[in-house]
Amino acid sequence: MKDLFNKHNCKYKEMFNNNHTPMLIIDAKTGNIDDANLAACSYYGYIRDKLLKMNIADINVLKEEEVEEEIEKAKKEERKFFQFKHKLSNGEIRNVEVYTGPIKLGNKELLFSIIHDSQERVELESKYKKNKAYFDNLFHNSPEAIAIVDRDYRVLEINNRFEDVFQYNLKDIREKDLTELLCDETLYEASHNFRESIRRGKFIKEEVKRRRKDGKLLDVLLLGFPLVIEGETIGAYCIYSDIREAKEREKKIELLTKCDVLTGLFNRDFFLSNLDYEILKNKRENRLDEKIVVIILCINEFKEIMEALGPLAADNILKEFALRLKEGVGPEDIVARFGEDEFAILIPKIKDMDKLNGLTGEIIECLNMPFYIDANEIKITTSGGISIYPDNSIETIALVRKAEIAMNKSKELNSNMPIKFQNSLDKEVQEYFWIKNSLTRALPNKELFLNYQPIYDTSVNRLVGVEALIRWEHKEMGIIPPAKFIPIAERTGLIHPIGDWVLLNACKQNKKWQDLGYEPIYISVNISALQLEKPGFIKVIERTLEESQLEPKYLQLEITETFFAHKYEYVEDTIGELNELGVKLAIDDFGTGYSSLGQLCQFSINSIKIDRSLISDVHKKSNKNKVVKAVISLAKSLNIDLIAEGVETQEELRFLKENRCTVAQGFLFSKPVRAEKIEKSFQKTIRNLYKKYKD
Ligand code: C2E
Ligand code: MG
Ligand code: MG
Repeated sequence: MKDLFNKHNCKYKEMFNNNHTPMLIIDAKTGNIDDANLAACSYYGYIRDKLLKMNIADINVLKEEEVEEEIEKAKKEERKFFQFKHKLSNGEIRNVEVYTGPIKLGNKELLFSIIHDSQERVELESKYKKNKAYFDNLFHNSPEAIAIVDRDYRVLEINNRFEDVFQYNLKDIREKDLTELLCDETLYEASHNFRESIRRGKFIKEEVKRRRKDGKLLDVLLLGFPLVIEGETIGAYCIYSDIREAKEREKKIELLTKCDVLTGLFNRDFFLSNLDYEILKNKRENRLDEKIVVIILCINEFKEIMEALGPLAADNILKEFALRLKEGVGPEDIVARFGEDEFAILIPKIKDMDKLNGLTGEIIECLNMPFYIDANEIKITTSGGISIYPDNSIETIALVRKAEIAMNKSKELNSNMPIKFQNSLDKEVQEYFWIKNSLTRALPNKELFLNYQPIYDTSVNRLVGVEALIRWEHKEMGIIPPAKFIPIAERTGLIHPIGDWVLLNACKQNKKWQDLGYEPIYISVNISALQLEKPGFIKVIERTLEESQLEPKYLQLEITETFFAHKYEYVEDTIGELNELGVKLAIDDFGTGYSSLGQLCQFSINSIKIDRSLISDVHKKSNKNKVVKAVISLAKSLNIDLIAEGVETQEELRFLKENRCTVAQGFLFSKPVRAEKIEKSFQKTIRNLYKKYKD
């Protein structure tokens, strides 16, 4: 039985034995191995005798009954090809493919099996499947749109994201040219360059625009790299990142860096870079006949509006203001918000300067119209400055600075029309900074002193008072008049220490004269509005009087008419306290502040100093003498004393005396002089009095 082949066919036996493919003959009933060729013995690792004693179930890793089922299938020729796992003598389990068919030798039913080791192929297959799964997962779940194309850029594969982003599905576009699908004709050239670079093995990354199926252009970041297999570039990967959101964000950020959030106008930085650009352009194009204009505007009453109506209303005014400005300028002009209440206009090209006047006029007219905020009608005024390239400067910062200087001047002058920059303004600014810096050292350096100007009652030829007038003697600059430095002291706050110093020294001087035995007179001290408004001013006066030991009735405070007329209610309490204290109050520069005498009767004041502008040439027939006469008679009826300021001639004095204004001060009597010289005025009066008494 064992040598079956010997009996029937030696030729086949040889073929069986010497075949390099493992072969087994299996008893179809029992599953016993009936014969095995040498290749099978060496494959399974058993000597032939051992193998022929084994059952196929000893080799197949399936359960015995499963093996039986499989044998049944082979017997009935239901199947010829099987994939099993076979165990070798060393315990190793290998994947095998078995071709099995029934044969009959005599009465015996046998199965003839040819075994192919498929271990490597199965391993490869599983590796391939795994890799494919990795790829598929990555490819289809990628957040980027990916297309794989062949060398001619025809679509081979696209992923799900590609379908979402570009709205194509694979079956519509397979084998189609990707450039034609996604690019406008204008982009063809760039796309072909891109393709060429990839073909040459380059890795390309660039921001491009690509068209969606519905025609919409998208901003994408395109990443392209070659698809290389076995050293040959057979196509390319094209990866598209949708950067629409990032672009939007970028745009918003760019806008935020360029714009003022509240008004939507451009901001200062953007304005300056545009001015830079326009200057460069003008220089490059040599546009000699065209000028560049910078206008800076500021809302005068902004702080008051803020205090009165609150920040929300103030914001609404700013928004409306910005809107009016934008509407008022041309399409090429740039409007920016420079500061809280400061705005700037850049006119990049203007030939005709008359047009500029027209334009600024229109803008101001439009800004002067009332603003309606929360049922309030609000009127605002603006100050403005203009600088012109190349007339005022050829540099950005200097142009802006000069427009700002001009704007400050317009604010100072209360001009409701923008002022054009002039070199004299620059000098003023330089002088301002010089004074500002030097003034801080004036008090500690003892550069300040007081001059005194006598005030006479001419009806009795008697010295009744003196006005203390401050002087600043700078080592290099000589005497600097108060009109130059007092306004700066007011702007910088230095007026408070300086004012206190004046008060104390003037009072001390007056007391000194009294102590020297001169007839008591009052000392008239100029007080800045800021001093009067500052809380605690009354304490300063009390302290001064105490320190100088001067009686209050010998101190007169001069406050300008302009202040009284506009701000009286803010200082009403202080004035009441000064009255109680017994200090005298005089209204200085009367006739310059446009207040009426009727208005003055409500104030508790002792005297009025008629301004020199009304006194000079008052005797000549003019409206002036009528005004002065009226002022005198009204003051008399209100029981207010009068002092005529700046009397320079006998004629002026005569007119005043004839009209019952006898108290006067002016160069006719004396210029402001040092304290020692005033003592002569006392003596002169005494001498005169003495003379009168003798007569
Ligand atoms: P003011 O108080 O009206 O002083 C009168 C000014 O007129 C003085 O100028 C005086 O020198 C000048 N003056 C007097 N008589 C005549 C005259 O007959 N003809 C002419 N042409 N001028 C005459 P000054 O001293 O230059 O002072 C100018 C202004 O500076 C003062 O005007 C006053 O407003 C301010 N000032 C002076 N000293 C002080 C001070 O200590 N404190 C404050 N806050 N202001 C002061
Ligand atoms: Mg005065
Ligand atoms: Mg005056």
